[in-house]
Amino acid sequence: MFKQIIEAIKSLFKSLFGGSKKESGQPQPRPIPDDTGFPKDAMEVAKDTIVTVNEMDILLNPPAKADEDFDKDMFDEQPATPATPTAPTPQADVPTKPTETPTADTSKHKPRYLWCFDNGHGEATPGKRSPLFDDGKTRFFEYEFNRDIVKRIMTKLDKEGVKYYNVVPEVEGDISLKVRVTRANTKKSDLPKLYISVHSNASPVNGDSTKVWAVPGAKGIETWHHDSSAKSKKMAAVFQKHLIEKTGFVNRNLKTTKQTALYVLVYTSMPAILTENGFYNTKSEAAELMKDTVRQKIADAHIEAIMEIEKNGL
Ligand SMILES: [Zn+2]
Repeated sequence: MFKQIIEAIKSLFKSLFGGSKKESGQPQPRPIPDDTGFPKDAMEVAKDTIVTVNEMDILLNPPAKADEDFDKDMFDEQPATPATPTAPTPQADVPTKPTETPTADTSKHKPRYLWCFDNGHGEATPGKRSPLFDDGKTRFFEYEFNRDIVKRIMTKLDKEGVKYYNVVPEVEGDISLKVRVTRANTKKSDLPKLYISVHSNASPVNGDSTKVWAVPGAKGIETWHHDSSAKSKKMAAVFQKHLIEKTGFVNRNLKTTKQTALYVLVYTSMPAILTENGFYNTKSEAAELMKDTVRQKIADAHIEAIMEIEKNGL
């Protein structure tokens, strides 16, 4: 009976994510479902399904590659050029020229990965903004913060000679999760790809979240990883360690969920993480997140993590 249940779960995973490497010999592109109903970030994950892990436990005892039929790590070390001709990849949703390491000075550093940056949300995404500060006119917009952090990271990576791909160069609108994931998955690269989605967090409030501050306010930084990916877990641990060391923010450790997981972590065909940098609807923390110095520390922590992974691999 127990075995039957395991087999049923395995076949469900196969139908959802495609066949395994063992069977096909080549990684199969996984179908990307519609993103309706999937959580976009930590705030939208059902709270009673969240699992917390201490990043130091992961760093001291790195997880072995999961011996499962489904492990997204099996996709990541493959060159982007397919061995056999395939149907054209959908590019229709890519209207602009994404920015990517245009003038990187690669004399200093031999790039190891292509870092795909997803600056979560857009100007038109409902909510995802703080109430007004006491001046009656300023508020924290998450899309602006996310873009600012990613921009600061990319500026430094240009100098370091690290390769990246800005998945969402658009400022206006709300680029869907499906388009974000499709762009990253279909991006051609000679280097293995890694995906990082940058966010700021919010806690539930009683009433209109654009008018009411959270009480009592949650605080701190957490990093989300894919539950079945050893590399995603290791990557998350490195980022969380640097984020806490650099910013001094409250350490909320690593988070994952075994249930309806974050769309960008599940459907990207590469190790992926999502950083939640402070709580923008906790008034005192939102004020910190508006400061240039704090933003630079958050960006610098991401850079330190990136450089560590560029050096040591995953
Ligand atoms: Zn977010």
